[in-house]
Amino acid sequence: MSTQKLAGKVAVVTGASKGIGASIAKHLAAEGAAVVVNYSSSKAGADKVVAEITGSGGKAVAVQADLSKPEEVTKLFTETKKAYGKVDVLVNNAGIYEMRPLEQVDADHFHRQFDLNVLGLILASKEALPLFPSEGGSVINISSVVSTARFPGSVAYSATKGAVDAVTRVLSAELGSRKIRVNTINPGMVETEGFHTAGIGGSEMQTAVEAQTPLGRIGQPQDIAGAAVFLASSDSSWITGETFVISGGMR
Ligand code: NAP
Repeated sequence: MSTQKLAGKVAVVTGASKGIGASIAKHLAAEGAAVVVNYSSSKAGADKVVAEITGSGGKAVAVQADLSKPEEVTKLFTETKKAYGKVDVLVNNAGIYEMRPLEQVDADHFHRQFDLNVLGLILASKEALPLFPSEGGSVINISSVVSTARFPGSVAYSATKGAVDAVTRVLSAELGSRKIRVNTINPGMVETEGFHTAGIGGSEMQTAVEAQTPLGRIGQPQDIAGAAVFLASSDSSWITGETFVISGGMR
């Protein structure tokens, strides 16, 4: 018998061409899941993740879909059904973060983040629903410590993650009778491509976060992936509606 925790399972990881999503995809695959590696524009990144997984004997396919567009959310699950026929695990990871002081917030900045981080996440959960088998499954939403922290200059982004926490609570109640568990992972600051693009690497913000972190460092993507494997597997079979803050102790 396989000792892999996710043998025979199918996982969809949104935004898995880099950063936290790529690490989660690889860790789920290492436990035996067939993984749909979603990306929006980074085909090379997604292909590399797929090649790493298949090169280690795992199963994965890359599927392009811009999840801020409802019709492309539908496409992601049509392709998933074609590739693997079902969904056991959905990791709603795709997200963008743009830091701006209140004076520079406008409707475009708001909608860019809400259309993906909240609407995309809700619609992905909806489209995945008919593909979960009768024995249920696991939805893992990637929120952030910002949902409860007080970071100046992150009003719209923090609002998206507060919404993700709320969506998780509601859907855990709504989907419990179908044995679908819904939890969030709320990472602290993690060094990813997006973290560098946003100019956070080496910034005063990074120094301030490190100073407030009991474990004294920011995270790496693999610091998050282990928790995703736990929440995807039957090791967490009686856990739903919970928030897992993974931040080196930073609040
Ligand atoms: P990242 O390095 O910027 O990677 C983002 C991923 O999302 C990429 O695979 C990207 O694919 C994909 N993506 C972006 N826009 C998309 C769209 N419209 N449709 C589908 N996929 C899209 O980000 P990250 O730092 O790993 O963050 C991942 C998640 O963790 C986000 O939800 C973020 O809010 C959360 N988080 C991050 C941190 C942190 O410090 N890094 C902390 C807490 C929470 P393409 O390259 O193809 O666009």
